Amino acid sequence: MTSLPDDRPRHPEKAHRPDQPVRRGKPDWLRVKAPNSPEYAATRKIMRDNRLITVCEEAACPNVGECWAKGHATMMIMGDTCTRACAFCNVRTGLPGPLDVLEPANVASAVQKLGLAHVVITSVDRDDLADGGAAHFASVIRAVREENPATSIEVLTPDFLRKPGAIAQVVEARPDVYNHNLETVPRLYPGVRPGARYFSSLRLLQQVKEIDPAMFTKSGLMAGLGESREEMLQVMDDLRAADVDFLTIGQYLQPSVKHHPIDRFVTPDEFASLADAAYAKGFLMVSASPLTRSSYHAGDDFIRLRAARLAHLGR
Ligand code: SF4
Repeated sequence: MTSLPDDRPRHPEKAHRPDQPVRRGKPDWLRVKAPNSPEYAATRKIMRDNRLITVCEEAACPNVGECWAKGHATMMIMGDTCTRACAFCNVRTGLPGPLDVLEPANVASAVQKLGLAHVVITSVDRDDLADGGAAHFASVIRAVREENPATSIEVLTPDFLRKPGAIAQVVEARPDVYNHNLETVPRLYPGVRPGARYFSSLRLLQQVKEIDPAMFTKSGLMAGLGESREEMLQVMDDLRAADVDFLTIGQYLQPSVKHHPIDRFVTPDEFASLADAAYAKGFLMVSASPLTRSSYHAGDDFIRLRAARLAHLGR
């Protein structure tokens, strides 16, 4: 683990920016229970004992109480500091430390202790590394597979922008699901994901399928950032053109006054309508609800995803 003392400013690049408006009055459908079960504490202990960082905590995910009560923690590898500065993300930004060579073994051990049937592994962006951290990602996948052969593995990777060969390295380690989030519609990229390029992210997903046509691909969008329904539908078309299997859509929540403001709270009915539209466009699986996150219920969804593909193939 490369965690540093917590007195560092969490988002130094945002410190001098003006405060953004904060939308008060969270609707009932976004209210969750405080995380305080004994099972939550047990998951937390395993993460600490294995010196692991989770996106659940770093991103201040609202589902942490529910997920950790079931041992479902999403591990975030390659440190706690991201080299990008996305306007929606609560993960610490700055210059990261060196990679932890023990991390593959520690992740594999945590998966074993948690008894996970399905694990989601994500990471910070590591633009400072020549391969963006792809070889390390592949090492983690292999270590988890070796120690937990029955566990299905889902990765949620950065875009590996300008890192030739990186995507192939991760795909060749054979995760079961390759997830890369588009996050938002292309018009909002300059404000929301300034360091990323919409068509590079889309192309990444297409490349995964080109390298391994059997691999499940998945992508996620946030709703409530200022996008229109028509723009969401266009992104769905783009994802289907890249042969993406699984789409997740959840409500954007603003981590601090320095982050992108919430444009609006999207209602559960609107999420249901987006899910209907996505299924009509041919996704094998869709999860769209206010609290949906990439890794929310990912294990159960993976079982349904596999079944949906078999049904689609007529078996
Ligand atoms: S939804 Fe994902 S990030 Fe959030 S607590 Fe659950 S596993 Fe962690």
